[in-house]
Amino acid sequence: MAHVSTLPKHFLSEKVEHFTESVIREMTRQANQYGAVNLSQGFPDFAAPAEIKKAAQDAIAADVNQYAITWGAKNLRNAIARQMQEWRGLSIDPEKEIVVCCGSTETIVATLLAVCNKGDEVVVFEPFYENYGPDAIISGAKPRFVSLRPPQDAGSDWTFDEQELRDAFQHHTKAIILNTPNNPTGKVFTRKELELIRDLCVEFNVLAITDEIYDHILYDGAQHISIASLEGMRERTITINGLSKSYSVTGWRVGWAVAPPNITNAIRKVHDFLTVGAPAPLQEAGAAALSLPPSYYQQLAERYRKGRDQLLPALEKAGFRCYRPRGAYYVMTDISAFNFPNDVEFAAYLVKEIGIACVPGSSFYKHPKDGSQQVRFAFCKKPETLDEAERRLEKLRAR
Ligand code: GLN
Repeated sequence: MAHVSTLPKHFLSEKVEHFTESVIREMTRQANQYGAVNLSQGFPDFAAPAEIKKAAQDAIAADVNQYAITWGAKNLRNAIARQMQEWRGLSIDPEKEIVVCCGSTETIVATLLAVCNKGDEVVVFEPFYENYGPDAIISGAKPRFVSLRPPQDAGSDWTFDEQELRDAFQHHTKAIILNTPNNPTGKVFTRKELELIRDLCVEFNVLAITDEIYDHILYDGAQHISIASLEGMRERTITINGLSKSYSVTGWRVGWAVAPPNITNAIRKVHDFLTVGAPAPLQEAGAAALSLPPSYYQQLAERYRKGRDQLLPALEKAGFRCYRPRGAYYVMTDISAFNFPNDVEFAAYLVKEIGIACVPGSSFYKHPKDGSQQVRFAFCKKPETLDEAERRLEKLRAR
C-alpha cells in the first residue's frame, strides 16, 4: 500500500484555514526553548494565595472529585452572585443567570456558539486579544474590527471614532465583544464610552459580550464599570469573568458567564456538550477565592502597579515607546526606534539574542502590517523576574 504522507485538504474544516495557532502560546514555548525571561503569555510566575490552594486540596480530600452540576457548583454560583451584587450592584439569580465553564476562554466560545448564526457579525475593537477572531469564526460569525487609536501623548488614552463604531453596527450585527480593562492596550473604558456603546446596542438591538477578567487590576484611580450595570443593558449583556487573573490560577481553567435566563440557558446547553463541566474541586476553591477580603484585591493591584512602574522605565530606557496601561497587566510598545522590518523579526531577535520573550503586535490585528511596529510585554511577574529582564534590556540598549 502506498504511504500517504499528507491527507488532502478537503479533510479539514474551512473554518480552521481562517486562523493560525496562538502566537501568545507559541512565544511561551520559545521562551522555554531559549531560556528567555517570559514576558509574553500573561500568567503570574508567583504563588497563588495559600487559602485557595488549601481549599482546593481540602475539596479533593473530601472527595469532591466527580462531575459538578454541569452549569456550575452551587457554592461557586452563589459566590459569583454575591460578588456581582457587591461589586457591580447587580442582583443576579444564581439558579438561572450563571454558567460556569472551563475558563473564560471556553465561556466566550460557548457564548458565541449559543448566540451566533451563519451570516451574523460581531464587532471587535482592534487591537484585540487574539482569541476573539478565531472565537467568532468557530461560531460561524464574521468579526468586524473597529480601531482603537494609540494615545498621542502621555496624558491621553486609546480612543475610537464614534462614526466608525456606528458604521460597524449596520451589518447583521449580533454582538459586540468588549474587553475592559483591555488586553493588550491596558485601556479602561470610561462610563461615557460605555454609554455610547450602550446606545448603539439598544438602537441596533445588539448584544454586549463583555470580557471583564482583569476587573480588579486597575491603576492610577481608574474605575471599572460593567456595561451590564448601565440602564438598558442588563437584558442584553453577557458578562464574562474567571478565577485566572484575579486569583493567579490561570491553569485551573475556571471561568463563567452572567447573562439573562434565556441566554444563560443557551450557553448552558452548548457548554454541557463541549466539556460537561469545569473541574469540581477547583470550583469549590473558587467559592473560597471569591470570599477573600477586599484587602486582597488592593494588594493584587498594588503588586501589579509596582511591576508596571518597574518595567515601563526599563523598556523606555532601552528605546521602546510605551503606551502606559491603566488596567490589566500588559504594556503595548512601539518599536520603530529599533529599525526592524517587522514585529515578528524583532520578537525573534529579542527572544534569541537578548533573552526576553514578548508577543509580536501583529497577533492583535487583523492585518499584520497594522501591528508590525508594536510588541506587547506582560509584567505579571516577580520583582526578581523583572530585575532580570531589566538587566537583559541593557544589552538591547547597548546595541
Ligand atoms: N490572556 C493571556 C495573554 O493574553 C493568556 C492567553 C492564553 O494563553 N490563554 O497572554
